[in-house]
Amino acid sequence: MFNNLQDKLDSAFKNLKGQGRITELNIATTVKEIRRALVDADVNYKIAKEFTDKIKDKAVGEKVINAVSPGQLMVKIVKDELAELMGGEEAPFNAKGNPAIILIAGLQGSGKTTFSGKLANYLKSQKSLNPLLVAADIYRPAAMEQLRVLGEQIGVEVHLEPENKDAVSIAKAAVASAKSKNKNVVIIDTAGRLAVDEEMMNEVANIKNAVNPQEILFVVDSMTGQDAVNTAKTFNERLDFSGVVLTKLDGDTRGGAAISIKYTVNKPIKFVSNGEKMDALDVFYPERMAQRILGMGDITSLVERAQQQFDEEQAKKIESKIRKNKFDFADFKAQLEMIKKMGNMKDLLGMIPGVGKQIKDLDISDDSFKGIEAIIDSMTLEERSNPDLINGSRRKRIAQGCGKDIAEVNAFMKQFEQMRDMMKNMNKMGAFGKMMPGGL
Ligand code: GDP
Repeated sequence: MFNNLQDKLDSAFKNLKGQGRITELNIATTVKEIRRALVDADVNYKIAKEFTDKIKDKAVGEKVINAVSPGQLMVKIVKDELAELMGGEEAPFNAKGNPAIILIAGLQGSGKTTFSGKLANYLKSQKSLNPLLVAADIYRPAAMEQLRVLGEQIGVEVHLEPENKDAVSIAKAAVASAKSKNKNVVIIDTAGRLAVDEEMMNEVANIKNAVNPQEILFVVDSMTGQDAVNTAKTFNERLDFSGVVLTKLDGDTRGGAAISIKYTVNKPIKFVSNGEKMDALDVFYPERMAQRILGMGDITSLVERAQQQFDEEQAKKIESKIRKNKFDFADFKAQLEMIKKMGNMKDLLGMIPGVGKQIKDLDISDDSFKGIEAIIDSMTLEERSNPDLINGSRRKRIAQGCGKDIAEVNAFMKQFEQMRDMMKNMNKMGAFGKMMPGGL
């Protein structure tokens, strides 16, 4: 995410790192480079200039020149200001109502329908929320079908009226239907056009007036940079939306939209979408995003994702096996499954401070675990639960079974042994309980 911007900011800070004496000139050069990095990331020049003027004032005020580590202090100033520019505090999302009505608007292809599905999936996972999706894109039968399929996939009912050509009446009927079915959130996916057009705007505005939504979310493709910001302006003038959803942050996004949309329309970003899968949705936290832009990782989000996938019963079982030095291949595979559910591997690694930059050019696919899984799958159940059984001839058979080289199987077995030794030592030292909060 934002690799180019990250690199450029990093090199701007280098000016202040490892310098014997810091001068005003060093600071001015750094600030200028930060400005250039932002403009290259498609942040509007005026915003970039205002931002860096503020950084400069703060750098003088906080005496970066005399600081013990001027580079670090400067990074902190930039991080705080970036977070502020992107919205400061996390913006609340209002899903309360009887039912709560959420209107989704944006251009065609921005990711509205995908986001509608993700939002329904996200809200459904919160206790007491029971969403209804509404297909109000009357122009494209394919959009209705897409929503129907998504609804089926995530187990959320979709309100469809394929013959009805009046989006307002569909929205009204859907709200009435939600009331009668005890659905407490209605998510209305509206039609988009390739560019802003009057008819589309009228239609969304009419739906807004007819159903009076708690939230109007404007969905925008973050890859489109300043265009995204300009489109946001037009939509906001007409709809006075309550929040922004930035999509496709998993792509090669430069960062301009994320950084400048809040400043331009004075509406907060509420969600970011970073993939095509239904669980690739994050609540937007300006502070965490600023940290990620600066390559500082995002441990808080990583821990939250782990908690979402955490299966307490299974964790207890595995913990007890580790304590008895009985951790086996079946447990290992169960652990892999849990990690995989946390999301895209490269994205996860990127949340660890300092790692993102190092792996940005590596091709880490979600298939990273496939080789290991194939090896484990090629073992008999007996071998999986008793790794000590696996001698030379069994290794050969396992390698043949999964189409791998014997050397790969040997390497994996060795790693597994090392891991078990480490667990044994931790048990001996009694370190396990201390290191793993909550037991694991
Ligand atoms: P709509 O026309 O606004 O409803 O847009 P869609 O929801 O149909 O999305 C357009 C395309 O973008 C589809 O191919 C989606 O799979 C894809 N898409 C949507 N959100 C994301 C995202 O966050 N990341 C990526 N990589 N693709 C996305």
